[in-house]
Amino acid sequence: MVRKIELNKRQEQILQIVKDNGPITGEQIAERLSLTRATLRPDLAILTMAGYLDARPRVGYFYTGKSGTQLLTENLKKIAVKDYQSIPVVVNENVSVYDAVVTMFLEDVGTLFVVDSGSLLVGVLSRKDLLRASIGKQELTSIPVNIIMTRMPNITMCMKDDLLIDVAKKLIEKQIDALPIVKETEKGFEVQGRITKTNVTKAFVALADEDL
Ligand code: ADP
Repeated sequence: MVRKIELNKRQEQILQIVKDNGPITGEQIAERLSLTRATLRPDLAILTMAGYLDARPRVGYFYTGKSGTQLLTENLKKIAVKDYQSIPVVVNENVSVYDAVVTMFLEDVGTLFVVDSGSLLVGVLSRKDLLRASIGKQELTSIPVNIIMTRMPNITMCMKDDLLIDVAKKLIEKQIDALPIVKETEKGFEVQGRITKTNVTKAFVALADEDL
């Protein structure tokens, strides 16, 4: 959906005319502004698509009464996790902390998801989990990640159809950087994706740039 928070002068004029006189036809709006219907068409299309105006066949345009903030909120609540997800990076629960550090660097992610031999989610590893394990005197190649990971059932997860705004709230509330996107099966949870603070930031920028 296209939306513009910044309306140009003519669009503001149209909005005012419709507010005061709606329902009103495109022809009548054009007359009031001494413009042709064709000239107005793009502005009317923008105002309608952005949700400021509604158009009913044979009735005309009317003002929806929604403020820019209301429309922004409505658009925000249309964004699902699946629209901004990233590919998950998973490691097996038996790999060493050393291998997990290498994977984190090579894959350029801040969170790894840990799975068992049946590919079901069993844990999460963050940068600090790996750093914490590294400041001890243990041999990193001989400690398996399942000793140091945050484990089920304490993993905060989400599904691909969840709203991004709800995930953002969970990230803040739990003070974490990422959530696994999972699919529930009879045996447990399969990891389908990853959603991070970066994904939420991208959605935030896209909202401002109006490209939903
Ligand atoms: P960092 O440790 O790099 O600051 P986080 O803030 O994401 O990264 O992680 C903080 C702690 O929360 C770590 O111990 C990590 O294992 C845990 N954690 C991270 N993501 C989740 C999650 N989705 N569910 C449960 N615990 C998590």
